[in-house]
Amino acid sequence: MNPNYLQTPIAYLKGVGPNRAETLQGELGIYTYQDLINLFPNRYLDKTKYYKISELQRNNSEVQLIGKITHLKSVAQKKGNRLVASFTDETGTMELVWFKGQKWIRENTKLNVPYVLYGKTNWFNGTFSMPHPEMELLEAHKKGLKISMQPVYPSTEKLSNKGITNRVTNKLMQQLFLDTKGRFVETLPDYLLSELNLMNKSNALFNIHFPKNQEELAKAQYRLKFEELFYIQLQLITKKIIRKNKIKGYPFTAVGEYFSEFYKNHLPFELTNAQKRVIKEIRSDLGSNAQMNRLLQGDVGSGKTIVALMSMLLALDNGFQACLMAPTEILATQHFNGIKELLEKTDINLALLTGSVKKSARKIIHEQLENGELHILIGTHALLEDKVQYKNLGLAIIDEQHRFGVAQRAKLWHKNEVPPHILVMTATPIPRTLAMSLYGDLDISVIDELPPGRKPIKTVHRYDANRLKVFRFIKDEIKLGRQIYVVYPLIQESEALDYKDLMDGYESIVRDFPMPNYQISIVHGQMKAEDKEFEMQRFIKGETQIMVATTVIEVGVNVPNASVMIIESAERFGLSQLHQLRGRVGRGADQSYCILMTSHKLSSDAKTRLETMVRTNDGFQIADVDLKLRGPGDIMGTQQSGVLNLKIADIIKDNDILKTARHYAIQILTNDPSLSKSSNTVLLYAYQQLVKYKNIWNYIS
Ligand code: ADP
Ligand code: MG
Repeated sequence: MNPNYLQTPIAYLKGVGPNRAETLQGELGIYTYQDLINLFPNRYLDKTKYYKISELQRNNSEVQLIGKITHLKSVAQKKGNRLVASFTDETGTMELVWFKGQKWIRENTKLNVPYVLYGKTNWFNGTFSMPHPEMELLEAHKKGLKISMQPVYPSTEKLSNKGITNRVTNKLMQQLFLDTKGRFVETLPDYLLSELNLMNKSNALFNIHFPKNQEELAKAQYRLKFEELFYIQLQLITKKIIRKNKIKGYPFTAVGEYFSEFYKNHLPFELTNAQKRVIKEIRSDLGSNAQMNRLLQGDVGSGKTIVALMSMLLALDNGFQACLMAPTEILATQHFNGIKELLEKTDINLALLTGSVKKSARKIIHEQLENGELHILIGTHALLEDKVQYKNLGLAIIDEQHRFGVAQRAKLWHKNEVPPHILVMTATPIPRTLAMSLYGDLDISVIDELPPGRKPIKTVHRYDANRLKVFRFIKDEIKLGRQIYVVYPLIQESEALDYKDLMDGYESIVRDFPMPNYQISIVHGQMKAEDKEFEMQRFIKGETQIMVATTVIEVGVNVPNASVMIIESAERFGLSQLHQLRGRVGRGADQSYCILMTSHKLSSDAKTRLETMVRTNDGFQIADVDLKLRGPGDIMGTQQSGVLNLKIADIIKDNDILKTARHYAIQILTNDPSLSKSSNTVLLYAYQQLVKYKNIWNYIS
């Protein structure tokens, strides 16, 4: 079969035509025969099994039964009647119910003759019932052509309104298989098929749409999932190889004065082994000829800042400038202050650039940056402005990746002729396999160890009704000299309401913690940057004991003396946010606490989130639960959602297949980077087809 045939517009398929084609395009993105073939069923109705009434479970599942209807009666209800039948087999009796089409049923149903029924069961008032069952006389059922596993295709309201029901989709699929004789070009090489015992392409496509039985279906699914994940990996790894070979970076060959001097004399603590390992990984990247593109993952408090700083020193040692970009003004300021302190005894020049830096000061920064006087620039998005030009930017570090988009990363790339090395730091733990899929083109370093001496944070869940007890606990902690965060949610859509919650909460705290014994700070998004900064500084210096805030403190602030984190309306926060917030405490030597306050009304997802927080401090475990609750697209934020637009594989459930696919993709590309060996012709061709028809799902922007 000529593969280009599959690029035929869907309108040409018998049974489609221009109107249906438009609907299929709009609703399911089906433009070509190929797209239709790749519309995989969401699930299958299993008609291979016949249930007994005694075997039914109260789980509303779809079942197939054999039995007889013994009588039919009409039952009056609020509006009109319903028709009810008694249906029995040798193990029990249940009801069949019709609300519509009663006349037809009444006239055509035969009593005391065996029927095969199919439908969803309900459990009500001690009996099972099945509304609007599919019915067929057993006699006819035995003779008929059986599609034992009936596929259920993705659908939308519009599709069914326009008459493109599941049955129609099924028909179209049959037509396509008739037209193509069910023969499709193989897209995996023979050696993979035999080594992994994979079903061939034609067979897999047939069985995914018209499965013969569970076993064949499972094999078909495995093969197609493998193929999908394999080609994604192939593309990601190819990109990485191209980057490493073609995109030259500045080689930072020297480890010079700045780095060594700092390491010997100014390092305030012994690095953890994980920090050492990661610095080594970064050093070896920077020393090679290729541009570094590395993702540094480390849980909150794992000590990423010092790694960032030491990487910047390597840039300086090689005569380059470095910059560090943070998502908020507070965080940028904190980085600046912290790094300035660490570099106090050196002659390194650094500056802070944020939206609130005055024009005159800004001008000086611009000048010094261009003439090379300034070594390190720390700041917010302001760093991306066109006016910000460097003499020679060698390394750009981005803290808290999830706040920045890919586009912004690209902007930094173009600050120089040769792109600077890039280090992206994130505290959002991404399960490794997911990271491989999302960031497969980046190298990944992980700090998987916290600095020594940290006590695990104790987390509890308390209802609003226990607030007084919680307040008493806070007072005890303050007596011990500790500081407290109280955080309120702020979610864009309900900003005014949230703001009121925050202010109400603040007032009640002021009432319960009166001056002069207690000093309270408040920070929220509607305050001016300098006021925020002023309040933050009061808290950092220990002048205030309680910090009432919205999520502005979510990312990165570091006040080691703060030992209690109270999260109000905790049910409204996502898991990763809760984890980030909790990470603000537990930074000193004292026992720290996180108290999750909620009302009694909790959804089951919210309960899972709270239970998870109470159970574990491990960011990777939390990320796993989060992933299960939300799905990967959501986790990466809107900027990256939709990236994993997989047609059949599931990044979580099919983890093992993903690993296998990645393993083989690496092996194949290592031996044959350009896929030019004859054994890989099939791969090269399929890959080119995917790229040509953009079926590689716009994988990376
Ligand atoms: P994050 O990874 O969340 O950005 P930071 O870099 O802010 O973490 O570090 C958290 C705290 O731990 C800081 O107070 C920092 O000084 C401290 N810290 C980092 N590394 C070590 C270490 N190896 N030993 C002791 N304390 C450390
Ligand atoms: Mg940090």
